Amino acid sequence: MRSIINYFKEIYFGVKSLLVGMKVTGSYFFRPSAIVTQKYPENRKDLVMFDRFKGEVVMPHNEKNEHKCTGCGICEINCPNGTIEVISKTIVTEDGKKKRIIDKHIYRLGMCTFCTLCVKTCPSNALAFSQDFEHAVFDRTLLIKQLNKPGSQLMKGVE
Ligand code: SF4
Ligand code: SF4
Repeated sequence: MRSIINYFKEIYFGVKSLLVGMKVTGSYFFRPSAIVTQKYPENRKDLVMFDRFKGEVVMPHNEKNEHKCTGCGICEINCPNGTIEVISKTIVTEDGKKKRIIDKHIYRLGMCTFCTLCVKTCPSNALAFSQDFEHAVFDRTLLIKQLNKPGSQLMKGVE
């Protein structure tokens, strides 16, 4: 007797689940403007990603090709999987003092887990996440990037 009841119960829940699904499908059929699925890459020009989306770590530069990275190495220490390599060099300032500055800030996108530790712990707020997600390449060495641009300098006022 119990098995017959279970049999009809399963039919009932099966039909109910089917009707719920058809209701959702039907609502989008009659209200196409409510569809959230986007046509990529056709919509590439006006595609807006969610605020929380993280595409890759970048080092913002201003219009004078200046960044805020002092080369302190904290991001490299805090990165849990060796994605970042900070190569610094020593220069002599105008007043004759020796000073360490960033030479190359290397970022291995292929290793990044987007944990946010580097961005959150940088004392000078030199790093950020971009929303660029088109990273497909045939040569994985192209995923190794130098974040400080050629010829760039430390922004004035950042120590
Ligand atoms: S990005 Fe920030 S934490 Fe990393 S070396 Fe530059 S200043 Fe230091
Ligand atoms: S987001 Fe995380 S894994 Fe990626 S570079 Fe920063 S600290 Fe490393």
